[in-house]
Amino acid sequence: MFKSHEKFHSVNGHRLVLIVDDEAINREMLGMMLADDYELIYAADGIEALNKVREYRELLSVILLDLMMPGMNGLELLSRFKEDPEVSNIPVIVMTSDQDAEVECLSLGAVDFIPKPYPKSEVVRARVLRTIELSEDRQIISSTERDPLTGLYNRDYFYRYAEQYDIYHRDTEMDAIVIDINHFRMINERFGNAYGDEVLKKIASGILDLVAESGGIVCRRSADTFMVYCPHGRDYRKLFEDASEKLASDETTGRNVRLRMGVYENADKSLDIERRFDRAKMAADRVRGSFARPIGVYDISMHEKELYNEQLIDGFARAIAEEQFTVYYQPKFDVRGDIPFLASAEALVRWMHPEHGMISPGIFIPLFENNGLIQQLDHYVWRMAARQIRDWKDRLGFSVPVSVNMSRIDMYDPDLIRTLSSILEEMGLEPSEFLLEITESAYTQDSGQIIDTVSELRSMGFRIEMDDFGTGYSSLNMISSLPIDALKLDMQFIRNAFREGSNTKMIEIIIDIADYLDVPVIAEGVETEEQMLRLREMGCDIVQGYFFSRPVPAAEYEIFLKDRTDV
Ligand code: C2E
Ligand code: MG
Ligand code: MG
Repeated sequence: MFKSHEKFHSVNGHRLVLIVDDEAINREMLGMMLADDYELIYAADGIEALNKVREYRELLSVILLDLMMPGMNGLELLSRFKEDPEVSNIPVIVMTSDQDAEVECLSLGAVDFIPKPYPKSEVVRARVLRTIELSEDRQIISSTERDPLTGLYNRDYFYRYAEQYDIYHRDTEMDAIVIDINHFRMINERFGNAYGDEVLKKIASGILDLVAESGGIVCRRSADTFMVYCPHGRDYRKLFEDASEKLASDETTGRNVRLRMGVYENADKSLDIERRFDRAKMAADRVRGSFARPIGVYDISMHEKELYNEQLIDGFARAIAEEQFTVYYQPKFDVRGDIPFLASAEALVRWMHPEHGMISPGIFIPLFENNGLIQQLDHYVWRMAARQIRDWKDRLGFSVPVSVNMSRIDMYDPDLIRTLSSILEEMGLEPSEFLLEITESAYTQDSGQIIDTVSELRSMGFRIEMDDFGTGYSSLNMISSLPIDALKLDMQFIRNAFREGSNTKMIEIIIDIADYLDVPVIAEGVETEEQMLRLREMGCDIVQGYFFSRPVPAAEYEIFLKDRTDV
C-alpha cells in the first residue's frame, strides 16, 4: 500500500527511478549517471512505461520521461499519468531538446526539465534529487489527506478531489458509488479489531486495484464505507463481483465478509458532491441485509422518497407546534400467573399528518435520527406520556407504568437527567412510574458512556428496559455488567421461532441469559394465543403484541386500565 508517511520509498536502500526513453544510448547514459545513487528500471516505449508505472507505483520516486518517442509520445504519457490519481503524485522530469514544449509539459504536470543533450552528470543528479525531495515533503504534507489504516484518501480530500476532477472533465458523465460492509461491527466483535482492520485493508486494496485499471478515485468514507467516483460506463457489477471475489478467495477474510453496493449513475453535477454520494449511500442502504440483491441503484422511486422525506423534515417544526404527533399506548401483560394482568404500556408515537394521514414511526424516526430532530420529538413524547399518566391518576386514582423509547442521541445529552426530572416535577410524578426503553445497539456503540448514564438514571429510580435485544451483538461479557431491569426480546426472534419448521432455540438461549442476569424477559410482537402460551412455558415473563392489543389511542387504552381494577 501507500507509504506516504515514510520519508522515502526504497528498494535495497535506494529510491527507485524509472527511465523512459526509446533510444538505448540515452537509457545507458542516464543509467550511468544515476546508478550509484538509485535503483533503476527502464522502459523503451509508452506501453512498457505504463505497465512499469502501474506495477511499481507504490515504490517509484521519480520518472524521467523522454518527450519524443514513436507510438505513444511523452506528452500523451504525461496526461495518462495525471488521469490516474494513484500515479499522478509521482513526479515526472521531462527530457527534451525542444524548449518550446516546456509550457505544455508544465501544464500537464511535469515538475522539471533536463535538456538534451544531457548536461554534466552533477547537474542531472542534482535535479533528480531536488525533485524527489520536494515531492517527498509534499507527500508528508499530504499524508493528512489519507486514511492511515488503508492509505486511501479521506472523505474531505476525496470530495475536494472529485470537485476538482469535475472542473477539468465537465463533459464526462460520472457515477457515484458507495461500498459498504454488512455487519462490520459484528465482525469486529467476533474476531477482534485487528482482524477487522485486515478486512478493511483488503477491501481497500482490492477496490484500488480495480479502479486503477478502469479509472476513478477512491476513499474511505467512514469506518466500513468506501466511496468510488468514476466515469460512467464502467461495469460496476463487475467491480462489485471482483471485490467480493477477492475477499472470498482469501482464507482469513473469506468466510465472514459480505459487501453491498449503492450506485448513483450519471450523477447530477448540479448537486453538491456530498449529496450525490448520499444518494449512492441511500441506494446501498436499501439493499442492506439482502444477500440475494447486494447492489442497489438510485432511481426515480428513491428520488420521490427523498422528496417525501424532505417534506417530512420540513414539516417537523410545525408538527410539534400544532401537536400533530400523537402518542398511542400498547399494553404489556404479565403472563407469569394463570391470568395475565396489565403490567405496563409502551408509548408509541404516531404522526397525524395533515396531508398524508397517519404515518408510522418506522418511517419518520430514522429521518429524525439523522439530523437531531429526534431529540425534540422524544422530549415531546415523554412529556405527552407524563401528562397522560397524570391525567389517569387524577381521574382513575391510580396509574400503571408507561415505557418511553429513548434514542441514542438522548443518551449523550448532558441535560438528559434535568429534562426528565423537570417533566416529572411538572406533572408531579415519580421516576418509578416511567420505564425507559433503550435499544441494545446504543449500548454496543459506546458502552462506557451509556453505562454511566444508565447507572445514574437508575439511581434516580428509573427502570431500564433493553429494547430490541438480540440485534445489537453485545457480548455476554458486556451484558453481564449492564445496569438494566428487563430484556426486551427483539420481535424478529418471535417471527423466526414460530415460522413453519423453525424452532425456539434462540428464544430459550435469551431467556437463559436473562435468568443469569436475574431480570425479566419481555416478548414483543406476540400475535397469537399459541405463541403466548409457548413463550410462557419457556419462562417468558411479560408479553406485548397484537394478541392482547395493537397500540391504541389513550382513550382506548383506558379500558385496560379500568379492567385492571376489577382483578
Ligand atoms: P419498538 O420500540 O421495538 O416498538 C415495537 C413496535 O412493534 C411498534 O411499532 C409496535 O406497534 C409494533 N408491534 C407491537 N406488537 C406487534 C405485533 O404483534 N405484531 C407486529 N407486526 N408489530 C407489533 P411502531 O409503533 O411502528 O414503532 C416502531 C419503532 O419506532 C419502535 O420500535 C421504536 O423503536 C420507534 N419509536 C416509536 N415511538 C418512538 C418514540 O417516541 N421515540 C423513539 N425514539 N422511537 C420511537
Ligand atoms: Mg420500544
Ligand atoms: Mg422493540
